[in-house]
Amino acid sequence: MMDSWSLYVSGEDETHALAARLAHALPQGVVHLLGDLGAGKTTLTRHWLQALGHQGTVKSPTYTLVEPYQMNGRAVYHFDLYRLDDPYELELMGMRDYLDQANALLLIEWPSKGEPVIPAADWQVFLSEPSDSDGNQRVVMIMAQSNVGVAALTCLRERHDAYV
Ligand code: ADP
Ligand code: MG
Repeated sequence: MMDSWSLYVSGEDETHALAARLAHALPQGVVHLLGDLGAGKTTLTRHWLQALGHQGTVKSPTYTLVEPYQMNGRAVYHFDLYRLDDPYELELMGMRDYLDQANALLLIEWPSKGEPVIPAADWQVFLSEPSDSDGNQRVVMIMAQSNVGVAALTCLRERHDAYV
């Protein structure tokens, strides 16, 4: 039940296009966003939210830990757990209620800080910064971690193949 797919994105336009396709392929579920500081987790999330129809700014939830959004009847939660000291704080924040909502999409930066309270991922999305200073290419690797995630990744790939 494991499947992965890697691709390069170069710049924000391609990132936006990728985010739109990710949003389409996995409309609900749990996404763990992995990568170092500066890898592009918040940027990808911003484009993902915009692709879902969010207008206006996307605040980084560095201090609030979570920013909630409501788009077309769907709840979307953007977490940044970098500053989380104790994962059980998530329970106090009502993490369970987020999960119990049908159709919710959870995008979680620094999920390791929330173990073992945070929900398992449908997708893990690994981002890496460009390795050369002038290069703009970022590697994005998606690893499906559930049946839903595998199906969504298959859908994403097929659409990509149809594209190119
Ligand atoms: P993270 O949330 O992983 O720490 P950010 O999304 O905040 O990283 O990105 C750090 C910086 O890298 C941002 O200032 C942004 O301008 C740049 N950046 C991130 N992703 C991209 C991208 N896909 N294309 C171009 N620049 C990017
Ligand atoms: Mg971030």
